[in-house]
Amino acid sequence: MKPFRYVRAYSVEEATAAHAGRPGSCYLAGGTNLVDLMKLGVERPGTLIDVSRLPLDAVEELPDGSVRAGGTVRNSDLAAHPLVRERYPVLSRALLAGASGQLRNVATTGGNLLQRTRCPYFQDLGKPCNKREPGTGCGARDGVHRDHAILGHSPQCIATHPSDMAVALAALDAQVELHGVRGRRTLPVAEFHRLPGGRPEQDTEIAPGELITGVLLPPATAGLPSAYRKARDRASYAFALASVAVVLDVEDSVVRQARIAFGGLAHRPWRARRAEEELRGGAASDQAFEAAMDAELAAAEPLHDNAFKVRLARDLACDVLRHLADSPPVA
Ligand code: SF4
Repeated sequence: MKPFRYVRAYSVEEATAAHAGRPGSCYLAGGTNLVDLMKLGVERPGTLIDVSRLPLDAVEELPDGSVRAGGTVRNSDLAAHPLVRERYPVLSRALLAGASGQLRNVATTGGNLLQRTRCPYFQDLGKPCNKREPGTGCGARDGVHRDHAILGHSPQCIATHPSDMAVALAALDAQVELHGVRGRRTLPVAEFHRLPGGRPEQDTEIAPGELITGVLLPPATAGLPSAYRKARDRASYAFALASVAVVLDVEDSVVRQARIAFGGLAHRPWRARRAEEELRGGAASDQAFEAAMDAELAAAEPLHDNAFKVRLARDLACDVLRHLADSPPVA
């Protein structure tokens, strides 16, 4: 592993100032992905700024009724928190579908959003990868790509984003809270991660030195029927081949609003806007769910080995929509 400097920060301001003064720095919280990548030589920061002691480990209700989860809240604590379990069960389910119990005890909210693709070519310094080393090519495109993207990919990169949590946050219309030396800003989670285009090395819209200080869960999606479903090669500790988070508002068998996001299909959580439009104001029926999913997935461009994901995603989503439409309203 390349030698690095270690700095511990005790406030957000101290952390962002330390980053600004040291180009090539990385924030360290749980380290469950970053440290692995450092050992592999994929990440080579000059300085690690430890933000795990910052006062960002609370889950709290804000005066406007939204819920704020701090950037260093551990994944297991977020999944178990009563405010999350009662108001946003889809988030709790998605978190519990990710990684292992040991990893969830260490991984943080901010780190989960910033985790990098598990594309095996990205993790292997001996293979070409435009994400790790721009301009070297994409080993996966003509290689092993069963797990890779079917939506929104580019000739430069076909990787998927690995987070389950981010898929639920995208469906919930959550916001990411960022702090940099120029102050605070928020971004919708659905716009935080990028599609690869011609710059696959850039996973997100985060600016250099910005720190994720929390995520905001809006009152509008609190208490609505919601669910997360994940298909994977084994029952635990595996990334999604396809997953779906759905938040559904149905009244008298008519869809008032559906919020749907897919995981395992794209370089970012894929918000199914086309399907949501098709469903809004229509019957909550099997035929409508299937037609909406067919409309959404018409944009899919599967590769040689992953065409199965189109049908898998369609069936997962239709099954969850059917289940939620049949669920009694939340009191
Ligand atoms: Fe690299 Fe993306 Fe190609 Fe994987 S899919 S080898 S991450 S460029």
